[in-house]
Amino acid sequence: MSTTKLEVSFGEARDIVLKSVQPLGFEDISIFEATDRVLYDNIISDIITPPLDNSSMDGYAIIAEDSRGASNEKPIKLEIIDEIQAGGTIAGKKVERGSAIRIMTGAPIPEGADAVIQFEDTEEENDTVKVFREVKKHENYRFAGENIQKGDHVLDTGERITSADLGLLASLNYKTVKVYKKPTVAIIATGDEIVDIGENIKHGQIRNSNAYTLYSEVKKYGAVPHYFGIAKDTIDDTKIKFTEALKSDVVISTGGVSMGKYDFVKEIYSALNIEIKFEWVKVKPGRPFTFGKKDNKLIFGLPGNPVSTLTTFIQFVRPALLKLMNAKRLNKPIVNAFLEETIYKEPGKVHLIRGYFRINNNELYVTTTGNQSSGVLRSMSLANCLIIIPETTAKVNAGEKVAIQLFNHDEIEETA
Ligand code: AMP
Ligand code: MG
Repeated sequence: MSTTKLEVSFGEARDIVLKSVQPLGFEDISIFEATDRVLYDNIISDIITPPLDNSSMDGYAIIAEDSRGASNEKPIKLEIIDEIQAGGTIAGKKVERGSAIRIMTGAPIPEGADAVIQFEDTEEENDTVKVFREVKKHENYRFAGENIQKGDHVLDTGERITSADLGLLASLNYKTVKVYKKPTVAIIATGDEIVDIGENIKHGQIRNSNAYTLYSEVKKYGAVPHYFGIAKDTIDDTKIKFTEALKSDVVISTGGVSMGKYDFVKEIYSALNIEIKFEWVKVKPGRPFTFGKKDNKLIFGLPGNPVSTLTTFIQFVRPALLKLMNAKRLNKPIVNAFLEETIYKEPGKVHLIRGYFRINNNELYVTTTGNQSSGVLRSMSLANCLIIIPETTAKVNAGEKVAIQLFNHDEIEETA
Protein backbone atom coordinates (compact mmCIF):
# COMPACT_ATOMS: atom_id res chain seq x y z
CA MET A 1 0.00 0.00 0.00
CA SER A 2 1.15 3.53 -0.77
CA THR A 3 2.60 5.28 2.25
CA THR A 4 2.90 8.83 0.91
CA LYS A 5 0.10 10.88 2.31
CA LEU A 6 -0.81 13.42 -0.32
CA GLU A 7 -3.39 15.51 1.52
CA VAL A 8 -4.70 18.73 0.01
CA SER A 9 -7.26 21.37 0.93
CA PHE A 10 -10.70 21.49 -0.65
CA GLY A 11 -9.72 24.40 -2.92
CA GLU A 12 -6.39 22.85 -3.89
CA ALA A 13 -8.09 19.60 -4.85
CA ARG A 14 -10.42 21.40 -7.22
CA ASP A 15 -7.57 23.42 -8.74
CA ILE A 16 -5.38 20.36 -9.25
CA VAL A 17 -8.22 18.47 -10.93
CA LEU A 18 -9.16 21.33 -13.24
CA LYS A 19 -5.53 22.05 -14.19
CA SER A 20 -5.16 18.43 -15.24
CA VAL A 21 -7.98 18.58 -17.78
CA GLN A 22 -7.26 18.84 -21.51
CA PRO A 23 -10.49 19.46 -23.43
CA LEU A 24 -11.39 16.80 -26.01
CA GLY A 25 -11.80 17.48 -29.73
CA PHE A 26 -14.95 18.27 -31.65
CA GLU A 27 -17.53 16.47 -33.75
CA ASP A 28 -20.20 17.64 -36.17
CA ILE A 29 -23.72 16.69 -35.14
CA SER A 30 -27.26 17.36 -36.31
CA ILE A 31 -28.92 20.22 -34.46
CA PHE A 32 -31.62 17.73 -33.48
CA GLU A 33 -29.00 16.18 -31.18
CA ALA A 34 -27.35 19.40 -30.04
CA THR A 35 -29.36 20.37 -26.94
CA ASP A 36 -27.06 20.67 -23.90
CA ARG A 37 -23.95 19.95 -25.95
CA VAL A 38 -21.05 22.40 -25.67
CA LEU A 39 -20.52 24.65 -28.67
CA TYR A 40 -17.07 24.40 -30.30
CA ASP A 41 -17.04 27.59 -32.41
CA ASN A 42 -17.99 31.18 -31.84
CA ILE A 43 -21.09 31.71 -33.94
CA ILE A 44 -20.98 34.90 -36.01
CA SER A 45 -24.05 35.87 -38.01
CA ASP A 46 -23.75 36.11 -41.79
CA ILE A 47 -27.33 37.30 -42.18
CA ILE A 48 -29.62 39.94 -40.79
CA THR A 49 -32.88 38.89 -39.22
CA PRO A 50 -35.60 39.87 -39.61
CA PRO A 51 -34.49 40.56 -43.17
CA LEU A 52 -36.97 43.42 -43.73
CA ASP A 53 -38.88 45.98 -41.69
CA ASN A 54 -42.16 44.20 -40.93
CA SER A 55 -45.39 44.45 -39.02
CA SER A 56 -45.80 43.03 -35.49
CA MET A 57 -49.62 43.19 -35.76
CA ASP A 58 -52.46 42.43 -38.11
CA GLY A 59 -53.83 45.82 -39.15
CA TYR A 60 -53.15 48.62 -41.61
CA ALA A 61 -49.84 50.10 -42.67
CA ILE A 62 -50.28 53.86 -42.58
CA ILE A 63 -48.41 57.11 -42.21
CA ALA A 64 -48.56 57.85 -38.44
CA GLU A 65 -49.21 61.52 -39.10
CA ASP A 66 -52.50 60.55 -40.80
CA SER A 67 -53.88 59.28 -37.48
CA ARG A 68 -53.26 62.57 -35.69
CA GLY A 69 -56.37 63.56 -33.69
CA ALA A 70 -58.24 60.26 -34.34
CA SER A 71 -60.58 59.06 -31.58
CA ASN A 72 -63.70 56.95 -31.13
CA GLU A 73 -65.83 60.04 -31.53
CA LYS A 74 -63.83 61.49 -34.40
CA PRO A 75 -62.41 58.60 -36.45
CA ILE A 76 -60.22 59.38 -39.44
CA LYS A 77 -60.99 57.67 -42.73
CA LEU A 78 -58.23 56.30 -44.96
CA GLU A 79 -58.54 54.64 -48.34
CA ILE A 80 -57.49 50.98 -48.49
CA ILE A 81 -55.43 50.60 -51.63
CA ASP A 82 -53.95 47.11 -51.25
CA GLU A 83 -53.15 44.15 -48.99
CA ILE A 84 -49.88 42.41 -47.97
CA GLN A 85 -49.62 38.94 -46.41
CA ALA A 86 -46.71 37.53 -44.43
CA GLY A 87 -44.26 36.37 -47.06
CA GLY A 88 -45.93 38.67 -49.60
CA THR A 89 -44.15 41.13 -51.81
CA ILE A 90 -44.26 44.92 -51.53
CA ALA A 91 -43.16 45.61 -55.10
CA GLY A 92 -45.19 48.48 -56.46
CA LYS A 93 -47.09 48.97 -53.19
CA LYS A 94 -46.77 52.39 -51.68
CA VAL A 95 -48.67 54.16 -48.91
CA GLU A 96 -49.32 57.83 -49.53
CA ARG A 97 -51.07 60.47 -47.42
CA GLY A 98 -54.70 59.50 -46.87
CA SER A 99 -54.20 55.85 -47.81
CA ALA A 100 -53.62 52.55 -46.00
CA ILE A 101 -52.55 49.02 -46.93
CA ARG A 102 -54.06 46.05 -45.07
CA ILE A 103 -51.14 44.15 -43.54
CA MET A 104 -50.67 40.84 -41.68
CA THR A 105 -48.23 40.11 -38.86
CA GLY A 106 -44.76 39.48 -40.25
CA ALA A 107 -45.52 41.04 -43.65
CA PRO A 108 -43.00 43.60 -44.94
CA ILE A 109 -43.87 47.25 -44.32
CA PRO A 110 -44.67 48.88 -47.66
CA GLU A 111 -42.88 51.95 -48.89
CA GLY A 112 -44.16 55.21 -47.43
CA ALA A 113 -45.75 53.67 -44.31
CA ASP A 114 -44.11 54.29 -40.93
CA ALA A 115 -46.58 52.62 -38.52
CA VAL A 116 -49.22 49.92 -38.26
CA ILE A 117 -52.58 50.42 -36.61
CA GLN A 118 -54.00 47.16 -35.37
CA PHE A 119 -57.38 45.83 -36.55
CA GLU A 120 -58.88 46.24 -33.06
CA ASP A 121 -58.55 50.03 -33.31
CA THR A 122 -60.22 50.28 -36.71
CA GLU A 123 -63.38 49.49 -38.63
CA GLU A 124 -63.46 48.60 -42.30
CA GLU A 125 -66.22 49.86 -44.56
CA ASN A 126 -66.17 49.22 -48.30
CA ASP A 127 -62.72 50.41 -49.41
CA THR A 128 -62.05 52.64 -46.46
CA VAL A 129 -60.87 52.09 -42.92
CA LYS A 130 -61.92 54.18 -39.93
CA VAL A 131 -59.01 54.77 -37.55
CA PHE A 132 -60.14 55.26 -33.91
CA ARG A 133 -56.90 56.31 -32.28
CA GLU A 134 -53.54 57.92 -32.88
CA VAL A 135 -50.52 55.73 -33.52
CA LYS A 136 -46.97 56.84 -33.02
CA LYS A 137 -44.30 56.61 -35.68
CA HIS A 138 -42.88 53.05 -35.67
CA GLU A 139 -45.69 51.64 -33.56
CA ASN A 140 -46.18 47.89 -34.21
CA TYR A 141 -43.12 48.14 -36.43
CA ARG A 142 -40.24 45.65 -36.33
CA PHE A 143 -36.98 46.83 -37.80
CA ALA A 144 -34.84 44.75 -40.10
CA GLY A 145 -31.94 43.29 -38.08
CA GLU A 146 -33.46 43.96 -34.65
CA ASN A 147 -32.95 40.28 -33.77
CA ILE A 148 -29.53 39.73 -35.34
CA GLN A 149 -27.27 41.98 -37.42
CA LYS A 150 -24.71 40.73 -39.90
CA GLY A 151 -21.42 40.17 -38.06
CA ASP A 152 -23.08 39.87 -34.63
CA HIS A 153 -21.32 37.51 -32.24
CA VAL A 154 -24.39 35.40 -31.53
CA LEU A 155 -23.09 32.49 -29.43
CA ASP A 156 -19.82 31.77 -27.66
CA THR A 157 -17.63 28.71 -27.76
CA GLY A 158 -18.12 26.89 -24.45
CA GLU A 159 -21.86 27.57 -24.24
CA ARG A 160 -24.06 24.60 -23.42
CA ILE A 161 -26.69 24.83 -26.12
CA THR A 162 -30.15 25.79 -24.82
CA SER A 163 -33.42 25.65 -26.75
CA ALA A 164 -33.15 29.38 -27.52
CA ASP A 165 -29.57 28.87 -28.76
CA LEU A 166 -30.78 26.05 -30.96
CA GLY A 167 -33.45 28.33 -32.43
CA LEU A 168 -30.77 30.93 -33.18
CA LEU A 169 -28.63 28.31 -34.90
CA ALA A 170 -31.64 27.31 -37.00
CA SER A 171 -32.25 30.99 -37.86
CA LEU A 172 -28.70 31.08 -39.14
CA ASN A 173 -29.34 27.99 -41.28
CA TYR A 174 -27.21 25.55 -39.27
CA LYS A 175 -28.30 21.98 -40.01
CA THR A 176 -25.29 20.61 -38.18
CA VAL A 177 -23.12 22.20 -35.53
CA LYS A 178 -19.61 21.59 -34.16
CA VAL A 179 -19.64 20.56 -30.52
CA TYR A 180 -17.02 19.22 -28.11
CA LYS A 181 -16.92 15.44 -27.90
CA LYS A 182 -18.52 13.79 -24.90
CA PRO A 183 -16.03 12.07 -22.60
CA THR A 184 -16.54 8.36 -22.13
CA VAL A 185 -16.66 7.50 -18.45
CA ALA A 186 -16.05 4.07 -16.94
CA ILE A 187 -17.76 3.44 -13.61
CA ILE A 188 -16.46 0.72 -11.31
CA ALA A 189 -17.94 -0.25 -7.97
CA THR A 190 -15.68 -2.12 -5.54
CA GLY A 191 -16.28 -4.24 -2.47
CA ASP A 192 -16.81 -7.90 -1.56
CA GLU A 193 -19.92 -6.89 0.40
CA ILE A 194 -21.53 -5.05 -2.52
CA VAL A 195 -24.30 -6.86 -4.40
CA ASP A 196 -25.83 -5.61 -7.61
CA ILE A 197 -29.51 -4.92 -8.15
CA GLY A 198 -31.52 -7.98 -9.04
CA GLU A 199 -29.12 -10.39 -7.30
CA ASN A 200 -29.82 -12.31 -4.09
CA ILE A 201 -28.51 -10.53 -1.04
CA LYS A 202 -27.15 -12.33 2.02
CA HIS A 203 -26.99 -11.15 5.60
CA GLY A 204 -24.39 -8.38 5.95
CA GLN A 205 -24.24 -7.50 2.27
CA ILE A 206 -25.01 -4.10 0.83
CA ARG A 207 -26.86 -3.28 -2.33
CA ASN A 208 -24.87 -1.34 -4.92
CA SER A 209 -26.30 2.16 -5.11
CA ASN A 210 -23.19 4.18 -5.99
CA ALA A 211 -22.80 2.89 -9.53
CA TYR A 212 -26.32 4.04 -10.33
CA THR A 213 -26.01 7.42 -8.64
CA LEU A 214 -22.83 8.00 -10.65
CA TYR A 215 -24.33 6.72 -13.89
CA SER A 216 -27.12 9.23 -13.47
CA GLU A 217 -24.74 12.10 -12.68
CA VAL A 218 -22.38 11.35 -15.58
CA LYS A 219 -25.31 11.35 -17.99
CA LYS A 220 -26.76 14.48 -16.48
CA TYR A 221 -23.61 16.45 -17.27
CA GLY A 222 -23.52 15.24 -20.87
CA ALA A 223 -20.81 12.55 -20.70
CA VAL A 224 -21.22 8.89 -21.71
CA PRO A 225 -21.28 6.44 -18.79
CA HIS A 226 -20.23 2.78 -19.09
CA TYR A 227 -20.86 0.61 -16.08
CA PHE A 228 -18.13 -1.98 -15.48
CA GLY A 229 -19.72 -3.86 -12.59
CA ILE A 230 -18.36 -4.59 -9.12
CA ALA A 231 -14.67 -5.37 -8.56
CA LYS A 232 -13.98 -7.88 -5.79
CA ASP A 233 -11.61 -6.71 -3.05
CA THR A 234 -8.63 -8.49 -4.64
CA ILE A 235 -5.68 -6.99 -6.45
CA ASP A 236 -6.34 -9.16 -9.48
CA ASP A 237 -9.97 -8.32 -9.96
CA THR A 238 -9.41 -4.62 -9.28
CA LYS A 239 -6.57 -4.59 -11.82
CA ILE A 240 -8.58 -6.41 -14.50
CA LYS A 241 -11.48 -4.00 -14.17
CA PHE A 242 -9.25 -0.91 -14.20
CA THR A 243 -7.21 -2.12 -17.19
CA GLU A 244 -10.38 -2.42 -19.25
CA ALA A 245 -11.79 0.85 -17.83
CA LEU A 246 -8.68 2.81 -18.84
CA LYS A 247 -9.82 2.66 -22.46
CA SER A 248 -12.29 5.41 -21.49
CA ASP A 249 -11.43 9.09 -21.11
CA VAL A 250 -12.34 9.04 -17.43
CA VAL A 251 -12.45 6.28 -14.81
CA ILE A 252 -14.55 6.66 -11.68
CA SER A 253 -14.41 4.03 -8.98
CA THR A 254 -16.16 3.97 -5.63
CA GLY A 255 -14.85 2.42 -2.45
CA GLY A 256 -11.54 0.78 -1.72
CA VAL A 257 -9.59 4.02 -1.25
CA SER A 258 -9.45 4.15 2.58
CA MET A 259 -6.86 2.64 4.90
CA GLY A 260 -8.59 -0.75 5.16
CA LYS A 261 -6.66 -3.95 4.62
CA TYR A 262 -8.69 -4.71 1.49
CA ASP A 263 -8.65 -1.24 -0.04
CA PHE A 264 -6.69 -2.08 -3.18
CA VAL A 265 -7.62 0.70 -5.56
CA LYS A 266 -4.53 2.86 -4.92
CA GLU A 267 -2.25 -0.14 -4.88
CA ILE A 268 -3.01 -1.00 -8.48
CA TYR A 269 -2.44 2.59 -9.66
CA SER A 270 1.33 2.24 -9.77
CA ALA A 271 1.07 -1.11 -11.57
CA LEU A 272 -1.03 0.65 -14.20
CA ASN A 273 1.27 3.73 -14.40
CA ILE A 274 -1.37 6.06 -13.01
CA GLU A 275 0.24 9.12 -11.44
CA ILE A 276 -1.46 9.96 -8.14
CA LYS A 277 -1.95 13.72 -7.78
CA PHE A 278 -3.53 13.56 -4.33
CA GLU A 279 -5.17 10.96 -2.13
CA TRP A 280 -6.86 12.83 0.70
CA VAL A 281 -8.91 16.02 0.71
CA LYS A 282 -9.69 18.10 3.77
CA VAL A 283 -13.42 17.76 3.26
CA LYS A 284 -16.18 15.95 5.09
CA PRO A 285 -17.73 13.85 3.79
CA GLY A 286 -15.20 12.63 1.24
CA ARG A 287 -11.74 12.73 2.79
CA PRO A 288 -10.43 9.59 1.12
CA PHE A 289 -10.58 10.79 -2.48
CA THR A 290 -7.86 9.86 -4.91
CA PHE A 291 -7.16 11.68 -8.10
CA GLY A 292 -4.73 10.35 -10.67
CA LYS A 293 -3.78 10.86 -14.27
CA LYS A 294 -2.46 8.65 -17.01
CA ASP A 295 -1.69 10.43 -20.31
CA ASN A 296 -4.82 12.55 -20.72
CA LYS A 297 -7.04 10.15 -18.82
CA LEU A 298 -8.46 11.21 -15.47
CA ILE A 299 -8.86 8.61 -12.74
CA PHE A 300 -11.07 9.42 -9.78
CA GLY A 301 -11.11 7.09 -6.77
CA LEU A 302 -14.23 8.14 -4.88
CA PRO A 303 -14.94 7.06 -1.32
CA GLY A 304 -17.48 4.26 -0.95
CA ASN A 305 -20.00 5.82 1.38
CA PRO A 306 -22.94 6.84 -0.80
CA VAL A 307 -23.11 10.46 0.34
CA SER A 308 -19.34 10.88 0.03
CA THR A 309 -19.52 9.43 -3.46
CA LEU A 310 -22.13 11.90 -4.60
CA THR A 311 -20.81 15.02 -2.89
CA THR A 312 -17.24 14.47 -4.11
CA PHE A 313 -18.57 13.79 -7.60
CA ILE A 314 -20.37 17.13 -7.55
CA GLN A 315 -17.32 19.02 -6.25
CA PHE A 316 -14.52 17.48 -8.30
CA VAL A 317 -15.66 15.11 -11.04
CA ARG A 318 -18.58 17.15 -12.40
CA PRO A 319 -16.48 20.27 -13.20
CA ALA A 320 -13.79 18.05 -14.73
CA LEU A 321 -16.32 16.42 -17.07
CA LEU A 322 -17.63 19.83 -18.06
CA LYS A 323 -14.11 21.11 -18.65
CA LEU A 324 -13.30 18.09 -20.83
CA MET A 325 -16.09 19.44 -23.03
CA ASN A 326 -14.62 22.95 -22.62
CA ALA A 327 -17.82 24.27 -21.03
CA LYS A 328 -17.19 27.82 -19.88
CA ARG A 329 -19.47 27.67 -16.84
CA LEU A 330 -18.25 25.22 -14.22
CA ASN A 331 -19.61 26.40 -10.89
CA LYS A 332 -22.78 25.61 -9.06
CA PRO A 333 -24.16 28.85 -7.66
CA ILE A 334 -23.29 29.59 -4.04
CA VAL A 335 -25.59 32.00 -2.21
CA ASN A 336 -26.14 33.02 1.40
CA ALA A 337 -29.01 31.73 3.53
CA PHE A 338 -30.09 32.16 7.13
CA LEU A 339 -29.25 29.05 9.08
CA GLU A 340 -32.20 27.80 11.13
CA GLU A 341 -30.29 25.58 13.55
CA THR A 342 -26.88 25.81 15.18
CA ILE A 343 -24.17 23.69 13.57
CA TYR A 344 -21.09 22.49 15.45
CA LYS A 345 -18.10 20.96 13.75
CA GLU A 346 -14.44 20.28 14.31
CA PRO A 347 -12.09 22.69 12.56
CA GLY A 348 -9.67 21.19 10.03
CA LYS A 349 -11.92 20.30 7.13
CA VAL A 350 -14.54 21.96 4.96
CA HIS A 351 -17.88 20.42 5.85
CA LEU A 352 -20.55 19.92 3.20
CA ILE A 353 -23.78 19.51 5.10
CA ARG A 354 -26.90 18.33 3.38
CA GLY A 355 -29.45 21.10 3.59
CA TYR A 356 -32.91 22.03 2.46
CA PHE A 357 -33.47 25.67 1.63
CA ARG A 358 -36.74 27.47 1.16
CA ILE A 359 -37.52 31.05 0.27
CA ASN A 360 -39.68 33.31 2.40
CA ASN A 361 -40.20 36.97 1.46
CA ASN A 362 -37.27 36.78 -0.96
CA GLU A 363 -34.91 35.59 1.80
CA LEU A 364 -33.34 32.16 1.87
CA TYR A 365 -33.55 29.94 4.96
CA VAL A 366 -31.79 26.62 5.33
CA THR A 367 -32.06 23.62 7.64
CA THR A 368 -30.10 20.39 7.64
CA THR A 369 -31.82 17.25 6.39
CA GLY A 370 -31.05 15.24 9.49
CA ASN A 371 -28.51 12.49 10.11
CA GLN A 372 -25.25 13.57 8.50
CA SER A 373 -23.62 10.14 8.52
CA SER A 374 -22.01 9.66 5.12
CA GLY A 375 -23.88 6.40 4.66
CA VAL A 376 -27.32 8.02 4.85
CA LEU A 377 -28.17 8.63 1.20
CA ARG A 378 -31.71 9.53 2.21
CA SER A 379 -30.43 12.80 3.65
CA MET A 380 -28.96 13.65 0.23
CA SER A 381 -32.17 12.69 -1.49
CA LEU A 382 -34.04 15.10 0.81
CA ALA A 383 -31.47 17.86 0.25
CA ASN A 384 -31.62 20.64 -2.33
CA CYS A 385 -28.32 22.26 -1.32
CA LEU A 386 -25.05 21.69 0.49
CA ILE A 387 -24.29 24.00 3.40
CA ILE A 388 -20.60 24.88 3.15
CA ILE A 389 -18.86 25.38 6.48
CA PRO A 390 -15.26 26.56 6.01
CA GLU A 391 -12.23 24.59 7.22
CA THR A 392 -11.43 26.78 10.22
CA THR A 393 -15.00 27.30 11.49
CA ALA A 394 -16.09 25.37 14.59
CA LYS A 395 -19.63 26.61 15.06
CA VAL A 396 -22.30 28.55 13.18
CA ASN A 397 -25.21 29.85 15.24
CA ALA A 398 -28.84 29.66 14.25
CA GLY A 399 -29.78 32.97 12.64
CA GLU A 400 -26.35 33.53 11.08
CA LYS A 401 -25.83 33.50 7.35
CA VAL A 402 -24.13 30.52 5.73
CA ALA A 403 -23.04 29.79 2.17
CA ILE A 404 -25.14 27.18 0.41
CA GLN A 405 -24.34 25.49 -2.88
CA LEU A 406 -27.37 24.92 -5.12
CA PHE A 407 -26.33 21.62 -6.65
CA ASN A 408 -29.52 21.12 -8.65
CA HIS A 409 -29.10 24.45 -10.39
CA ASP A 410 -27.33 24.92 -13.74
CA GLU A 411 -23.70 26.01 -13.67
CA ILE A 412 -22.87 29.70 -13.58
CA GLU A 413 -19.77 31.65 -14.55
CA GLU A 414 -16.93 32.28 -12.10
CA THR A 415 -17.55 35.69 -10.57
CA ALA A 416 -14.75 35.98 -8.01
P1 AMP B 1 -15.03 1.44 1.44
O1 AMP B 1 -14.45 2.79 1.18
O2 AMP B 1 -14.80 0.49 0.32
O3 AMP B 1 -14.59 0.91 2.76
O4 AMP B 1 -16.58 1.66 1.54
C1 AMP B 1 -17.12 2.48 2.53
C2 AMP B 1 -18.57 2.18 2.77
O5 AMP B 1 -19.32 2.48 1.60
C3 AMP B 1 -18.87 0.75 3.13
O6 AMP B 1 -19.79 0.73 4.18
C4 AMP B 1 -19.48 0.19 1.89
O7 AMP B 1 -20.34 -0.85 2.15
C5 AMP B 1 -20.15 1.38 1.27
N1 AMP B 1 -20.17 1.21 -0.16
C6 AMP B 1 -19.08 1.00 -0.94
N2 AMP B 1 -19.41 0.84 -2.22
C7 AMP B 1 -20.75 0.99 -2.28
C8 AMP B 1 -21.70 0.95 -3.36
N3 AMP B 1 -21.31 0.71 -4.61
N4 AMP B 1 -23.00 1.17 -3.08
C9 AMP B 1 -23.38 1.41 -1.79
N5 AMP B 1 -22.54 1.47 -0.75
C10 AMP B 1 -21.24 1.24 -0.98
MG1 MG C 1 -14.73 -1.44 0.17
